[in-house]
Amino acid sequence: VLNGETFHFQTEVSRLMNIVINSLYKTPEIFLRELISNGSDALDKIRFQSLTDPSALESNPNLNVTIAVHKDQRVITITDTGVGMTKEELQKNLGTIAKSGTSEFIETMSGDTADMDLIGKFGVGFYSVFLVADKVRVTSKSNRDDQYIWESTAVDDFTIAKDPAGNTLGRGTQIAIHLKEGQDQYLDDSRIQGLVTKYSEFINFPIYLRRTKTKTVEAEVEPAKEPEAKEEESEDSEEAAVEEEKVEEVKEKAPPVTVTYQEDDLMNSNKPIWIREPKSVTPEEYDAFYSVLTKETGSKPMAYSHFKAEGDVEFKGIMYIPAKAPKDLFQRVDGVLSNVKLYVKRVFITDDSAEFLPRWLSFLKVVVDAEDAPLNVSRETVQSNKSIKSIHKHLVKKMFDLLKTLSQDEEKYAGFIKEFGTSLKLGALEDKSNVKKISRLLRYRTSEHEKYTSLEDYVSRMKKGQKDIFYFTGANIEEIKQSPFVESLLARGYEVLYMDDPVDEIVLNQLANFEGKKFQNVGKSDLNLGDENAAVTERELETKFASLLDWLHATLLNDVEKVRISKRLTTSPAALVANDFGWTANMERLMDGQAK
Ligand code: ADP
Ligand code: MG
Repeated sequence: VLNGETFHFQTEVSRLMNIVINSLYKTPEIFLRELISNGSDALDKIRFQSLTDPSALESNPNLNVTIAVHKDQRVITITDTGVGMTKEELQKNLGTIAKSGTSEFIETMSGDTADMDLIGKFGVGFYSVFLVADKVRVTSKSNRDDQYIWESTAVDDFTIAKDPAGNTLGRGTQIAIHLKEGQDQYLDDSRIQGLVTKYSEFINFPIYLRRTKTKTVEAEVEPAKEPEAKEEESEDSEEAAVEEEKVEEVKEKAPPVTVTYQEDDLMNSNKPIWIREPKSVTPEEYDAFYSVLTKETGSKPMAYSHFKAEGDVEFKGIMYIPAKAPKDLFQRVDGVLSNVKLYVKRVFITDDSAEFLPRWLSFLKVVVDAEDAPLNVSRETVQSNKSIKSIHKHLVKKMFDLLKTLSQDEEKYAGFIKEFGTSLKLGALEDKSNVKKISRLLRYRTSEHEKYTSLEDYVSRMKKGQKDIFYFTGANIEEIKQSPFVESLLARGYEVLYMDDPVDEIVLNQLANFEGKKFQNVGKSDLNLGDENAAVTERELETKFASLLDWLHATLLNDVEKVRISKRLTTSPAALVANDFGWTANMERLMDGQAK
């Protein structure tokens, strides 16, 4: 037992641990992904610091994660040479929850209705280690402090003490996991290798598995050179020295001997997928990288584009459209979207800038690696950086290219519209410079088609003499179909666009027209059908029915503005219409809903 100061976990941490342990007990293996990802984050941080302060790396120039299995003690260690933690950081980072939104998250997860999907997406973090461990010891060395040990059995407190062994790590963090009863599978090298391949293949730092190997050394020949373990392991080299002595001895006695030695095997390719040639990357690799990027195990993207830009700013990147829209897509009020990861020359810079994409594209997941953005770019200066503006422009263009390609596959594109149609509409409202392009990507249900139709296709099917694009709004397609307005247009052979999304009407008001064709709500009063050559004019009919009109007007005085003769209806005797400048029934419903 560690002799040090004892601290209590913040209540939220204890609750989070309970949620994690109770809901993820079927997939305890994710602990490895979480710890490797923390190691990788810590490595990103020290590398980022070294951009402005090269001496930051002097405490250990190697940047990697090493996993070692100690079968006899039933312990796995995961060691990174990242930024490390000071005593204070150990206490804060591994004892409290600082991340915004976490408390709310715990609140929603605390019922019996734990949503596995949500937990997976949230990234359960460090505490998932207690899925497999009954004791965890974190030893950490930051450049700014001595080496400290954090230890806990997860009940409700943890201990922190200065490491009596001294600053042995140089820099970084070592997590020693004492496995629970029944979790011995993680002592198996091939199991660890399998998990690294599954979850962490695209981590941009080498991940090693330290293996203990044996080999037979012939007495006659010089002992083969020890495969290079990492240099800084003083213990290792001592052992090696002992080994060599032994070999010297046996030389005289002649029989071959078996020696044990340690070797670090690289478990991941750690070459960023985005800098590879697209032709050399398999679809499976793109999918696997996506699930690493999103930290969503096993999730697959709907579509992706691997691109390269040259010219004013040179960069490579991959852009993904997720298969599903997140539930909170339009509720992220804090503006932190974290959907674009910026690297400069392979060094991770930031993922918390909103400068790379317009808001309506926040559903995309993007990695960008720039060649010539100034290297001293900091998270703060990203905003005013000229290259960033240029990257922004390129990304939007790449996205339009990707959607154009996607839209050629009707079925796939219908899936996109279902998940992200609202994002497109938001774009039509917010992104003035791209409204035209966006309008070509919109799809609607119509009276002629069960499937989605583009505005282009609608226009190509317009009747001879038809000037406007006809649409009608309603809460759902059934309601729209039953409208007398729609019925009368259909009877005359016109196609009507069905708008059942509350935002549709606002979007059409914004667009005003498509390729010169006005949008005409068939529920409005001045409907121009373009076939005004009928024998009897409305004026003649108005004279004929003047007394009926007067009577109706007097009767409905308080409810309507005007009573008019119309030739629009076929089977329904009368209909209530909005005037040209007034709100339609649908719009009123929408505004009503907003007021509440
Ligand atoms: P997250 O990674 O989402 O922030 P975690 O629960 O995984 O949440 O980790 C909590 C915090 O602990 C991290 O934000 C980081 O500050 C710190 N931390 C965890 N592991 C390491 C590590 N290996 N090296 C340095 N800091 C770490
Ligand atoms: Mg983490």
